[in-house]
Amino acid sequence: MISLPARPVRTHGRRSLWLEQALAGEDPGAQSAVLGESHTDVCIVGGGFTGMWTALELKARAPGTDVTLVEADICGAGASGRNGGFALTWWAHFEHLVALCGPEHALSLAARAEQAVRSIGEFCEQRGIADAFSLDGWVWAATNPAQVGSWEQTVRLLEKLGASPYRPLDHNELVAKTGSTQHLAGLFEPVSASVQPAKLARELARAVREAGVHVHEHSQVRAIEHGRRTAVVLDGGSIQAEQVLLATNAWAAGIPEIGAGLVVVASDVIATAPAPERLTQAGITPGVCISDGRRLVNYYHATAEGRIVFGKGGGTLAYGNRFGASFDHPGRREALIRSQLLRTYPTLWDLPVQASWSGPIDYSLSGLPFFVRLRDAPSVLACAGFSGDGVGPSRLAGELLAQMLAEGGDAGLPAALRTVPQRWLPPEPIRYLGGRIVRAAVARKEHSEDLGQRPRVLDRVLAGMDPTGYEYKPHGRNLPAAGGAAADRAG
Ligand SMILES: Cc1cc2nc3c(=O)[nH]c(=O)nc-3n(C[C@H](O)[C@H](O)[C@H](O)COP(=O)(O)OP(=O)(O)OC[C@H]3O[C@@H](n4cnc5c(N)ncnc54)[C@H](O)[C@@H]3O)c2cc1C
Repeated sequence: MISLPARPVRTHGRRSLWLEQALAGEDPGAQSAVLGESHTDVCIVGGGFTGMWTALELKARAPGTDVTLVEADICGAGASGRNGGFALTWWAHFEHLVALCGPEHALSLAARAEQAVRSIGEFCEQRGIADAFSLDGWVWAATNPAQVGSWEQTVRLLEKLGASPYRPLDHNELVAKTGSTQHLAGLFEPVSASVQPAKLARELARAVREAGVHVHEHSQVRAIEHGRRTAVVLDGGSIQAEQVLLATNAWAAGIPEIGAGLVVVASDVIATAPAPERLTQAGITPGVCISDGRRLVNYYHATAEGRIVFGKGGGTLAYGNRFGASFDHPGRREALIRSQLLRTYPTLWDLPVQASWSGPIDYSLSGLPFFVRLRDAPSVLACAGFSGDGVGPSRLAGELLAQMLAEGGDAGLPAALRTVPQRWLPPEPIRYLGGRIVRAAVARKEHSEDLGQRPRVLDRVLAGMDPTGYEYKPHGRNLPAAGGAAADRAG
């Protein structure tokens, strides 16, 4: 029996701005919780992008398959409806990909992740929500001298292998793309998009239903029984299934086998009030996604309605990889994030913050998601570890998972992506306390760098111990990352 960690559904009276906007025009409809006993071919647990893209792909590949999707809250209520809205590719993770899979697989997977971004755009177009997607590209920027060139290693490796997804920006282009003179250097990647993620998630839920998937929201899975048969156990009933997909993102970290490869940390986002004229005056163009090169990444963009949406990684750390509703709380680190926003856009000093939200990030110890069949329960497939960059890649994950569920094989994935990444981490409470010490050191180091000062040696040493910022060497020693390449570039 696999027990699932509780997924408390508490909204503190508010959801993310994205979700509030997306739900505003929606008929709340009847409650669709699971009641009683039923049977299905594939039961998908988790109504985020991963679960829903998989459901849709599975129905396209094998229309005769009976698919049921169960979600503890409403579809899109997890990270998918409350992220920063960056749909990025995997080129920034290219070093990880090569380390894990070798150059050939890395190139093919990164090209597929790029195609996944375009496919999201096609979906939005076909479903009449073209305004939820804009392919305006992504700037990988340096906002202090220490970050300049943090991408060099990745770019050199890409060049060596004949790939050139990025273009360096000169100063004028950088200012034009970002609307800020705070950016000292940067690369531009054209195939990246900003999305209204909750609008996408809610439309995806409709598409999944229309494809014939039985969708049950407000249905929290408590356990999965396995043995002669596999059954998904919920409060109101159970679903017997031939196969189960666990697509519960950071909530899967409470399952020891999966959690061994994950570190759960919150990411926090704020959104200003809309002020389109002010943004135009300041030379800020909507759409372009920007991330800086710090470990506690700042990620931001201007929306079409004239807001700045600004997020920051490296928030609250989960104790023992378990977390409650505190990760759903709005307003976390609002003052800190606003100070970063004003550092980037000082002329917006009087623009009020209208919304803030948070959510859990499933940092994988390899920096990339993994797709695993559970050791003692091969009928249960799990996917987690998007490491804060899941909006685009979950589209690709949906294809791969659907193939694995429909054909039973490994979808051509290299073994390293079908294994939970392992690295020794101390037991609790040392892990939690150590994590807090390391995170505080990273924050001090990055603050010194912002001030143009050399960080203290101790802070540099401690910052190098961040388990989510390591270069992954599957067959060797894991080393502190040389630059920003190991970090997530969004959430
Ligand atoms: C604040 C924040 C900012 C981010 N910014 C970005 C960004 O800009 N770009 C980017 O690429 N990525 C970003 N991410 C990450 C990205 O949102 C995720 O990687 C992506 O949405 C993954 O989707 P998912 O389906 O795997 O997870 P989720 O959307 O979290 O879906 C998992 C679902 O499982 C459900 N669930 C959990 N337990 C149970 C249970 N027991 N029973 C039933 N259901 C259950 C949850 O309610 C949830 O809806 C961000 C994440 C956060 C939190």
